[in-house]
Amino acid sequence: MKAYFRQPGDGRIHPHIAATDIVWAVVMSRILRVTSFLRLEWLVHSAGRVGLGVKAAFGDDALAYCTERMDPETTRLALAEALHQAKRNKAFENSRFIGLALDGTGAGRTYKEPCPLCDPIKDAKGEVHGSLHHFVLISVVGTGLTLPIDVEPYGPGDSEYAAAQRLLRRAVAHLGPRFADYVVGDGAYATAPFLHTTEEVGLPVVARLKENLPLLAAAVRARFDGQPPHAVFQEGDDRVEVWDADDFDPWETLQWPTVRVLRYRQHKPDGTVIQAEWLTNFSIAKLGSLSFYRMAKSRWEIENGGFNDGKNRYGMEHICHHEPNSILIVWLLIALAMVIERLYRLRFLHRGDHGVRSAQQLCDYLWLTLGFRSSPDTG
Ligand SMILES: [Zn+2]
Repeated sequence: MKAYFRQPGDGRIHPHIAATDIVWAVVMSRILRVTSFLRLEWLVHSAGRVGLGVKAAFGDDALAYCTERMDPETTRLALAEALHQAKRNKAFENSRFIGLALDGTGAGRTYKEPCPLCDPIKDAKGEVHGSLHHFVLISVVGTGLTLPIDVEPYGPGDSEYAAAQRLLRRAVAHLGPRFADYVVGDGAYATAPFLHTTEEVGLPVVARLKENLPLLAAAVRARFDGQPPHAVFQEGDDRVEVWDADDFDPWETLQWPTVRVLRYRQHKPDGTVIQAEWLTNFSIAKLGSLSFYRMAKSRWEIENGGFNDGKNRYGMEHICHHEPNSILIVWLLIALAMVIERLYRLRFLHRGDHGVRSAQQLCDYLWLTLGFRSSPDTG
């Protein structure tokens, strides 16, 4: 990580402020829940700057200028290196399978003059009400540690679906083909081109089966509806019934010999029942029904530990500087902050004799060590 912070891909010709200071300050500010450039400017002009390890103070204009000119590839490679290091240091050793989840979201709603990434938000009548910035996130899941890996924006004329394919190819190129064991995505990813892309990068895939595949969905109903469950598991407090068969016909465009489908019916202690179907190209010999169920469930991590945390705690929702490269760089630096924070808090710190600190406890602790009596309101 040190090498990255020394040379984070600065594209400025005559920088007055070292990129090291700016990038380190952005990453630390996210762990401290400081989510705007103006508040970061206040922070580096405060008495806390020295404790933060930032040599010189700077303004929000320097943050805008620098992030507009950084090369995103350098930060993407640093993220991949952090994940490699985590794997080498056995951060995932209790998990049999490491997953890569992908999902898209919108953030940074604005009513300002649109930038090239701005997607207009239209109501039913076609009237525009501001714009949104879309991106696909890819994250490590299924290991007890949700760690974001990379981000790919998509603007008007592009699609989540195309962005996800570019993102998956790049992430696997950066991480290497043997880093992960499977790819997981919701129903939007259960399309032939995406499934073929997962094969191209050498990873089995688990995707939600919904009504966008009507023939397969109907075949699954016709087979499973009248049958008793093939197996029943106790998973935590839940009783899970499963139906699992690997000989469904692929749809027209899918070049798989057959499709395996799992249906689960999850009974929660409060009486709630959740039923869903998922498809895969894992063989039954390689992946049992319970592991298949867990992989399907690991997709939720990108919602909870990815977008929800990213937006509510680390400011992924907020656009600091309305320029496409700056928006992308800030998203990538948020991902890096989340990886550093989680590895430090859940793996490194945990080696002591105290329990795991929550993200809020670590945040408060850092504010205290910077000499602030309590963490200022983070909105
Ligand atoms: Zn924009």
